[in-house]
Amino acid sequence: MDMAIQNSVRRINPRRPFSINADGVKRIVLGQLGDSGGDGGQAALQSQPHQAAKPVRLAADAVTTGCLLAVAHSDRGALDEHARQAVAAAALLADGATEVALLVFGGLDDDAAALGADRCVVLPQYGNHAFAPEAELAALQALMETLLPAHVFIPDDGVTGSDLGRRLGAAGTAASVATHVVEISKCGLAVYRQQGSMLARRSLAQVVLLETDVVDARLPFLGRGQVAGELSAAIGVKAEAATSSSPFLDLGSKTMAASQMELDEADFIVSAGNGVDDVALFKSLANALDAAVGASRVAVDDGKFQRDKQIGATGKTVSASAYLAFGISGAVQHLQGIKDCRHVIAVNLDASAPMIKRADLSIIGDAQELMTALLDQVRQARSMEGAS
Ligand SMILES: Cc1cc2nc3c(=O)[nH]c(=O)nc-3n(C[C@H](O)[C@H](O)[C@H](O)COP(=O)(O)OP(=O)(O)OC[C@H]3O[C@@H](n4cnc5c(N)ncnc54)[C@H](O)[C@@H]3O)c2cc1C
Repeated sequence: MDMAIQNSVRRINPRRPFSINADGVKRIVLGQLGDSGGDGGQAALQSQPHQAAKPVRLAADAVTTGCLLAVAHSDRGALDEHARQAVAAAALLADGATEVALLVFGGLDDDAAALGADRCVVLPQYGNHAFAPEAELAALQALMETLLPAHVFIPDDGVTGSDLGRRLGAAGTAASVATHVVEISKCGLAVYRQQGSMLARRSLAQVVLLETDVVDARLPFLGRGQVAGELSAAIGVKAEAATSSSPFLDLGSKTMAASQMELDEADFIVSAGNGVDDVALFKSLANALDAAVGASRVAVDDGKFQRDKQIGATGKTVSASAYLAFGISGAVQHLQGIKDCRHVIAVNLDASAPMIKRADLSIIGDAQELMTALLDQVRQARSMEGAS
């Protein structure tokens, strides 16, 4: 939009500082993290493991004179990795007199302090479950008028964040908007041009729409993490006023059977691998749990499932809240397909299987026995629900 490409376009430094996260994803680390020296923050990240108690970024008696604002949409109370990175960008750029504010559309169960936010404005009435672009824009504009942030960071996620950022640009509220940003520092930002062959730089725009993995969301410090109740209510009222003149009518969302749902849209998936012999039992369980059915490539190649059920590098990539894997070894090609799943539960006879290492909860046991027991439990629970 307001993107002045510099004449002297520089090539990307292939040795820019980076960190590798637990999923093996390489992330470029933003300029300097704290006083970490010239290593781009590597030392700071390595010397402060996740578990260590982290300092609060702002001193207790710090008087803030400026503000950086991050904007995110939550999904079932949580921010996804991309949204967390936008908050982290603001936190990393903020100095000792700058507050990091976070505007969340949708509920927030995440710890705002761990996200790096000092003050949170939470609007649970909006978010991914509701279609209210005018209201969200009005809320953001009202908050910008109140907090006067020097910069606003929004994930350029191709959906809600991208839409809101571009609406803000079109409304003329922001002095400048930069989209598809792949690098940021206190001095400026960069975007790719010419199919990624060139990197164009400019000064930091007022509104920065960040691509994914530009910033490491693991911060070496905490924010103050205060939820601003009164401010949230006031912003909510202003947003509500904008909906009265909206040309859109939100007809709500329809519920549909999990079996009819595309795997990549399913929130709960039970998945079978070569360790599942009793396919009929597996399908009954999926049915009883009202979960979508997935499978490993071996199970598909064996003819147990249709090809469209295959999950992995050469199948579907899924992002379910819960992924229940029966008898799947967790080959790297399969794990690629479930990298965005929030909670993975694995059932396997082999405690050393990669799927067990990937899982948040593992059960070492026979898939058939576990499926039978689980199906009994589900049926019992359902019949008790029906009786009451
Ligand atoms: C180019 C390429 C692309 C590929 N793409 C994909 C892809 O998209 N998706 C994919 O899934 N794979 C893919 N693969 C195949 C992948 O490498 C693995 O071979 C496959 O994922 C293995 O499937 P599996 O875990 O079901 O079977 P196996 O490797 O046979 O593992 C079966 C697992 O079940 C456990 N088990 C056995 N019996 C029981 C029991 N009774 N109870 C509980 N556990 C039991 C075993 O301990 C084992 O861990 C690809 C491979 C290549 C080369």
